[in-house]
Amino acid sequence: MILEVRAVAPFYKNGFVVACSRTKEAIVIDPGDEIDEILGAVRDHDVQVQHILLTHAHLDHVSGVDTAKAALDAPVYLHRDDLPLYEHVVEQGAMFGFKVRPQPPVDVFYDMTPIYFGDYAVRVHHTPGHCPGGVCLQVGKKDEDGKHLFVGDTLFAGGIGRTDLPGGNYGVLMKSITGVLFALGDDAVVHPGHGADTTIGRERASNPFVVEYLTGQNRS
Ligand SMILES: [Zn+2]
Ligand SMILES: [Zn+2]
Repeated sequence: MILEVRAVAPFYKNGFVVACSRTKEAIVIDPGDEIDEILGAVRDHDVQVQHILLTHAHLDHVSGVDTAKAALDAPVYLHRDDLPLYEHVVEQGAMFGFKVRPQPPVDVFYDMTPIYFGDYAVRVHHTPGHCPGGVCLQVGKKDEDGKHLFVGDTLFAGGIGRTDLPGGNYGVLMKSITGVLFALGDDAVVHPGHGADTTIGRERASNPFVVEYLTGQNRS
């Protein structure tokens, strides 16, 4: 598997290229302001991008969708519950003082059936809480449980997604993390939307927000 990550100012949001080394088929995840670097990685590896997959529709994760779609001619996927955010990306930008271009229409709403590229499958898990339509994209060989989790802003190394933006909900987020993500196995590698990679096992054991939540759960 080929995996490339890029991030640029001001959001340092991770954009990803994941490709099958054998077939050179690929996906792009969350094209944002780093889209030119992402397209550079696509060219360097000479891979064919089949799908543009969004973990959620906050502006930092979608600001490069138009450029990606024009360059790659691949369909754009989003969870239906984040469509209002996506359609108001210009207003989202204004809220934070950034000028964001309106983005092209979503082509496919995730229906939770796997998405394929080369020898790989992407399994989609709905993980709301940071926003209504957040998803975890679980990537692995077609016949295996994927061990690469692209979690957007649901879970970070030592942190959790903010829940103070419209549609955010702390209780829902913690259920997504401890119920959905943790079920995918301690050895699964977590690729968050910002910052460094981690693993489910490490976050389960040492993430202070998770530990506090689980301790509270056990007490009640
Ligand atoms: Zn976000
Ligand atoms: Zn983000």
